[in-house]
Amino acid sequence: MKYIGAHVSAAGGVENAPVNAHKLGATAFALFTKNQRQWKAKPLTDQNIELFKQRCEEYGYKPEQILPHDSYLINLGHPEQEGLQKSREAFIDEIQRCTQLGLDRLNFHPGSHLRKIEISACLSRIAESINLALDQTEGVIAVIENTAGQGSNLGWRFEELADIINQVEDKSRIGVCLDTCHTFSAGYDLRTPEACEATFAEFDKIVGFKYLKGMHLNDSKTELNSRKDRHHSLGQGEIGWDVFRYIMQDSRFDRVPMVLETIDDSIWADEIEALKMMAY
Ligand SMILES: [Zn+2]
Ligand SMILES: [Zn+2]
Repeated sequence: MKYIGAHVSAAGGVENAPVNAHKLGATAFALFTKNQRQWKAKPLTDQNIELFKQRCEEYGYKPEQILPHDSYLINLGHPEQEGLQKSREAFIDEIQRCTQLGLDRLNFHPGSHLRKIEISACLSRIAESINLALDQTEGVIAVIENTAGQGSNLGWRFEELADIINQVEDKSRIGVCLDTCHTFSAGYDLRTPEACEATFAEFDKIVGFKYLKGMHLNDSKTELNSRKDRHHSLGQGEIGWDVFRYIMQDSRFDRVPMVLETIDDSIWADEIEALKMMAY
């Protein structure tokens, strides 16, 4: 069973996200539970929460089909105490919002060293941030997204993801989200079935499919190993359709929420339909 959808708008309230997903014919969706470009957000109201749960039930979205994404401002590996503290508090708030909504995972970007601390120190700091957050919350899996390795963003090499996971105490509450654009931009080829075979074998060896808790399905505007994060519509970028066909036909990607973050939301319904046709 494949769960396929998109990162939909929650404008006007989180309760609108399942409606927007349903309109696309999606069997999965991603959302921000607060404005992703602001530190502070109003708490969710009882009405937000009730309506969200009611509509997820009505349209058939279980927690494992939903991949909430945290704020872009959070840097769990921040080299400076103030930024780190602010990020840790905001991250805990994001987890708590997921708990309130009955969700079981939270997708986040690992963090950046901002050229002020060593890579290994930054990875340890990220793991420590996760440990602190998991200690103070319950039931939500922290899902690290692999990055394109743009600037000083960490988590683009599978070894870095594994390094963070190794330092997380509660392995039952840590997972990974693979973004196909980021994977490709980070230097892992996905353009042919053979390349997919090799890249996902490497992922399995170094990280492990048991940690896969989400996927972002995006083509890439930039070439292999560009270390740039530029999404494109499926089949229109440098990667092409093969990887999406490969994923749809491989059972290792069953029961994982897979969401589009492609650039033209007017064709999301068509992209979802095309993916569904490839799945068996
Ligand atoms: Zn992504
Ligand atoms: Zn991206």
